[in-house]
Parts: sequence; structure tokens; C-alpha cells
Amino acid sequence: MDNITIKAPAKINLYLDVIVKRADGYHELRMIMQSISLFDDINISKADVDIEVKCKAGYVPQGEKNIAYRAAKLMIEHFGLKEGVRISINKRIPVAAGLAGGSTDAAAVMKGINDLFGIKADNQLLAQLGKQIGADVPFCIMGGTAIAEGIGEVLTTLKPFSGVDIVLIKPDFGVSTAYVFKKYSEHYISIRPDINRLIKAMQERNLSDVGSYLFNSLEKVTAEEYSVVKDIKTILNQNGAIGSLMSGSGPSVFGIFDNKSKAQQAFKVLKQKFRNTYLVKTY
Ligand code: ATP
Repeated sequence: MDNITIKAPAKINLYLDVIVKRADGYHELRMIMQSISLFDDINISKADVDIEVKCKAGYVPQGEKNIAYRAAKLMIEHFGLKEGVRISINKRIPVAAGLAGGSTDAAAVMKGINDLFGIKADNQLLAQLGKQIGADVPFCIMGGTAIAEGIGEVLTTLKPFSGVDIVLIKPDFGVSTAYVFKKYSEHYISIRPDINRLIKAMQERNLSDVGSYLFNSLEKVTAEEYSVVKDIKTILNQNGAIGSLMSGSGPSVFGIFDNKSKAQQAFKVLKQKFRNTYLVKTY
């Protein structure tokens, strides 16, 4: 096998709480991460070049600055590979959107190289290695539904919460995660829903309770700067969503639906207002 194509899914956060700011400047978080059916396609082929990364999308660096390059370099060095790789990324996941678009590309590159070169490392080992590239990379390697703690790298797998209809909107601007965290200290939130109630609702597939317990500490920070976040939530809720939330540090917002036709209807309404609107499912 000289060539492999891997699907790299985006994630949303059904819960995101900031626990504490550590001395090293990173924030400890408690999150529920959920893969969704919005994918980048990553093609990797063995090559006599060192590492080459091509991605035509805007705002995404080519070559060494691309996170996919760092993932490939890590795999080649760690496993002592003798050949290089050509990587081509067909980007569909919006960039700087709170959807882990870069981390999932890195995870897909690691998994792809693992298969292409017959390395046979398991996901645990890849996740352990992937931490060096970014805190969300381990989750992107495992995929599905999980609690993520620490800075995002300590994972506890949850019962899959797949097949739920989601309408996802990415407003026409990106948000810097670092900026949102910087602002967060001014928006401390003292009361938050219990994560265990949300987990129980997810496990029982009680979607109306899931809708009520969705939570993101950072939503207020981003929404204060960009009121469109609130507007999208209002439109989602007016169009049948049983809950809506900003993902990660934003600005993407999603609504969850308890039936497909309501989701399709809301998708149509939002698509007219926001060109980056997606009808997806939890995955
Ligand atoms: P998270 O949800 O993990 O905070 P995000 O979805 O907000 O991430 P990304 O889309 O991962 O943000 O992009 C963050 C930055 O990483 C961008 O500024 C982008 O230029 C850079 N980047 C490097 N490589 C990639 C890649 N393969 N895909 C997307 N962004 C990349």
C-alpha cells in the first residue's frame, strides 16, 4: 500500500467548564467532546521527499506550519521511518471555529501513517504521542464521545452518543482561543449545571434533558464580543432545537434536534442567513 485516504471528523463540546488557570498559563478544563459527521479528507502517500503538506483552504498554512506536518514529523522520527510522505488536505471543517479542525487533521495523519507503514501502534500509544502536538489531538485519535480533563488530554470514554441530528453554524469570522481564555477571567461563572446529569441524560438518550444541561463557560465571553452567537442560538431555538450551545471557544454554534425533519427545516432557515451552515449527526 502506497497511498491512504482518511476521514478526519470535527468535534463539538456538549459541555466545557474552566476549572482553574495553572501556573504555566494553561487552563484546566472539564469537557464533553463529541465527534460529528463533518470531515476533512486527508490523503497520504509514501514519497521520496521529506514531508510535503498541501492544503488549498484559506487561513490554513502550507508546509511546515501546518499541524499535519508536525504530526507527520513526529511519526517519522518516533518510529524511525525511512521514507517521507506527501499529504494533501481537502478542508471542509471551518478554521479557528472551535471544531478542532487542526487537531483532527493531526490525528488523521498519525493514524494514516500508522496504517500506511504497517506500524501497528494502538490508539492509546498514538494518543499518548499526539499530546505533544496539541491537547485535543488525543481525543481526535480516539473519537466518539468522551470526557476530556486536564488541558483536554486526559480522556474517559463515554457510551457513544451517536446519530443525533445537529445543525451547526460557523459565522463568517474566526476566534482566537488564546484571546477568549484571556478574557475569561473577567467573566467568572459561579454556577454551572452538573456534568453528571448531562452524562446521565446522554446515556439514557433523554434529549430534552441533554438540551437543558448543555453548558459552555466560554460562551458568554465570545457572545459578548460577537452578538451573532446569541442571534444564532435564538434562531435555532425558534426553529425547534431542544438545546443550543457555542462549541469550544467559538464562534461555531450548534443546535440539537430530536427529529430529522425539524433539523432539516432549521437547516434551511439558517442556511439562508449563514453560508457556513451544516446538517450533521453526532458520530
Ligand atoms: P480547537 O477547537 O481545537 O480550539 P479550532 O477549531 O478553534 O481548534 P483550528 O481550526 O484547529 O482551530 O485552527 C487553529 C489555527 O491552526 C488556525 O489559525 C490555523 O491557521 C492553524 N492550522 C495549522 N494547521 C491547520 C490545519 N491542518 N487545519 C486547520 N488549521 C490549521
